Amino acid sequence: MNKFVDELQSMIHHFTFQDKHYLLVGPVNLPISIQHEEVPFKWYAFAPVERDTKPTIESIVQMSTAQQTFSSCLLFGDFENERPPLVRIHSVCQTGDVFGSLKCDCGPQLALSLKKITDYGKGMLVYMANQEGRSIGLMAKALTYKLQEMQLDTFEANRLIGCGDDDRHYEEAAAVLHYLNKGKPLHLLTNNPDKVDSIAAYGLPVLRFDHTVEASLYNEAYLKAKAASGHMVDEKKLINQ
Ligand SMILES: [Zn+2]
Repeated sequence: MNKFVDELQSMIHHFTFQDKHYLLVGPVNLPISIQHEEVPFKWYAFAPVERDTKPTIESIVQMSTAQQTFSSCLLFGDFENERPPLVRIHSVCQTGDVFGSLKCDCGPQLALSLKKITDYGKGMLVYMANQEGRSIGLMAKALTYKLQEMQLDTFEANRLIGCGDDDRHYEEAAAVLHYLNKGKPLHLLTNNPDKVDSIAAYGLPVLRFDHTVEASLYNEAYLKAKAASGHMVDEKKLINQ
């Protein structure tokens, strides 16, 4: 029994980033299928915590209810070498990531980021599980999707129901990136300059790398709205320009 407990204890990491406390549980080996090939990733779950002492196995089990979602990250490659990792910070999109919805570019962006990370040889996907619909939540997202059917763009729809354009924050992502990459430089896969600025504002050395996916008939208007709002979408990849 003790060897199991010791092994679990060794995967509980407790750290502080900019005066806040975080719990990181891992790594666990997670083979992922990428274009029908099995690729070995290391998986960690993480969360901000109130306490400044290291959580126990019992306290972790208590905080982990099925009603609450936690963010997690996938690591690939050797983090001991000096090459900056390729990093994607991806906010949950139940319709795009899970169902394969064509209304947004989330599903293809998620798949493409894992492919780019494995091709490059070193990287991290940080999956933010509490930022659905740029943080308006799934219920509000359902309302805005109806407004988008009525020809409002994604930002106009958010504003009509009193939500912001983008309420996401990147403090948790910055904390876990800083801890696992030891504060060293990283390459961020994104078209969103605000995301780069946010990560840089937490003191992490970061460079932006384009992450445009091919447009579909359904998400073209969505991608153009993103581009118009300041996202640096590579417009050569959009159709019907
Ligand atoms: Zn989406």
